[in-house]
Amino acid sequence: MKNIKEKVAYLQGLVQGLNIDETTKEGRVLTAIVDVLDEMADQLDEIETAQSDLEEYVESIDEDLYDLEGDILGDDFDEEEMVEVECPGCKEIVCFESDIIDDEDLIEVTCPNCDEVVYVNDQDILNGTNDEAQIMGKKEDDI
Ligand SMILES: [Zn+2]
Repeated sequence: MKNIKEKVAYLQGLVQGLNIDETTKEGRVLTAIVDVLDEMADQLDEIETAQSDLEEYVESIDEDLYDLEGDILGDDFDEEEMVEVECPGCKEIVCFESDIIDDEDLIEVTCPNCDEVVYVNDQDILNGTNDEAQIMGKKEDDI
């Protein structure tokens, strides 16, 4: 908030330098505005300090929570479960995250060695019995 404080200080300097007559209506309004700006800058400064204190506090809570999760769930709670599949092409063992199996999107795992598809998370496609094709077939019968 230093920037705003500096700008307000500059304005205050300007007002003083211009020898604004505070007995006139305009002069009173101008000096009042600059005074309010100065107060606002001070309050913003306080809010910023309070905000960064709060951020630090939340971060420390987050770290404690992370440690606590580790204690409760065990050390491997954040480790991905890996699945190993043997490539039908080159017999290389291919590892992939078990998340892929349950993923809603169609994912093909290919062998990094020979690019052969080693796993498709939609087993129907792999087995040649596509549910979607069957449903479409039924629809055509209905018509
Ligand atoms: Zn392969």
